[in-house]
Amino acid sequence: MALIVQKYGGTSVADPDRIRAVAEHVAFTRRHGNDVVVVVSAMGKTTDGLIKLANDVSTTQPGREMDMLLTTGERISMALVSMALADLGVEAVSFTGSQVGIITNTAHTKAKILEVKGDRVREAVAAGRVCVIAGFQGVSTDREITTLGRGGSDTTAVALAAALGADACEIYTDVTGVFSADPRIVPQARKLAHVNFDEMLEMAGAGSKVLALRSVEFARNHHVPLHVRSSFTWEPGTWVTSQEPNMEDPVISGVVTDVSEAKVTVIAVPDRPGISATLFEPLAEANVNVDMIVQNVSKDGTTDISFTMPKADMKVAEQIVARIAAEIGAAGVNHNADIAKISLVGVGMKTSPGIAAKMFRVLADNDVNIEMISTSTIRISVVTAASDLERAARSLHTAFGLDSGQAYSAPLPERK
Ligand code: ADP
Ligand code: ASP
Ligand code: MG
Repeated sequence: MALIVQKYGGTSVADPDRIRAVAEHVAFTRRHGNDVVVVVSAMGKTTDGLIKLANDVSTTQPGREMDMLLTTGERISMALVSMALADLGVEAVSFTGSQVGIITNTAHTKAKILEVKGDRVREAVAAGRVCVIAGFQGVSTDREITTLGRGGSDTTAVALAAALGADACEIYTDVTGVFSADPRIVPQARKLAHVNFDEMLEMAGAGSKVLALRSVEFARNHHVPLHVRSSFTWEPGTWVTSQEPNMEDPVISGVVTDVSEAKVTVIAVPDRPGISATLFEPLAEANVNVDMIVQNVSKDGTTDISFTMPKADMKVAEQIVARIAAEIGAAGVNHNADIAKISLVGVGMKTSPGIAAKMFRVLADNDVNIEMISTSTIRISVVTAASDLERAARSLHTAFGLDSGQAYSAPLPERK
């Protein structure tokens, strides 16, 4: 008998009909002789709604109270899915993250999982029950309720699959798998039958939200095969495993787009040792994830430093950067939220020179101005104006031979 962890994202449990459809599918998997552990996200746009509510009520938003608020979304889903299963005669029991011993660090709203105890899940599964677990949450080493950052239900599912030694972890979402680009932005994107963990890590790290970055890290470190597929069509999706790509695979496997970051420029910073440390240390202490950094060559003893970071951290970062800029005698600070990051990812890049040059040529020919550039061994990322995102992504997709020859045809439900 196999043990399967199934994770259902927000659109998959968005309304009563969807919840009943999920319960049917769980019952079906169970009837085929499998043990099933279900992880659920909050219904539809619930988490966005809760964040908006917090914004309307408070400017302070202590992390502990944000987590108390945000974890309620997943609690609703877990109870409703368990009830729908009971209607089908499937014995099911719901648990919060804390009840199943998902132990995290103390970083509210972006906590990291340190350990998964999972005793209650093992007991319930051994007793023949389906466990329905609230995703995106845990309990900290200080015994406080925490959340794992946006998209964190993927991480809950993979961490549980690893702790329970599950045979597979199925990630049910609103597209039919992992594509060569976000099919909502590049309709010609093709579904990838298989993606290697290293590539998926780069894609997730570059901002493709189909899988949360930490979920891929867990899957790779604990050898959990992932199957990303749609709860709207139930057709086979994309396997994410450690299997190496074939020699014939294309050099580039995907174009990744990300609009979740903003760019900050500190203007006319004195060019002397220690300035970057003075600027970035307090941001790191405040848990702000700085992504790309560009420092220009100094003119007259001053230089501009630009960096990108999540828009969600802007409130915290703005205060810190303004304070440090004044301390170090910079001329001012610029914020730009209208940017997009576009990345090419592919393990074939390691052995194929000229990819960056071709990328820049394609963008130039399509009149896209590049504001920043960064690279890893299997990724090249550029920052452009947000308004250039679609043109840039589609032209790169075509130029690197990734177009499927037909537009994405499965339903594309309204996004959470
Ligand atoms: P869920 O609520 O199920 O976790 P998400 O919205 O977090 O769903 O992730 C699914 C979305 O990811 C898709 O609707 C799609 O728009 C987007 N996406 C981005 N990049 C890709 C990609 N390469 N392949 C498939 N989907 C992608
Ligand atoms: N509900 C959370 C979010 O919207 C977690 C998740 O869906 O994975 O980010
Ligand atoms: Mg998600």
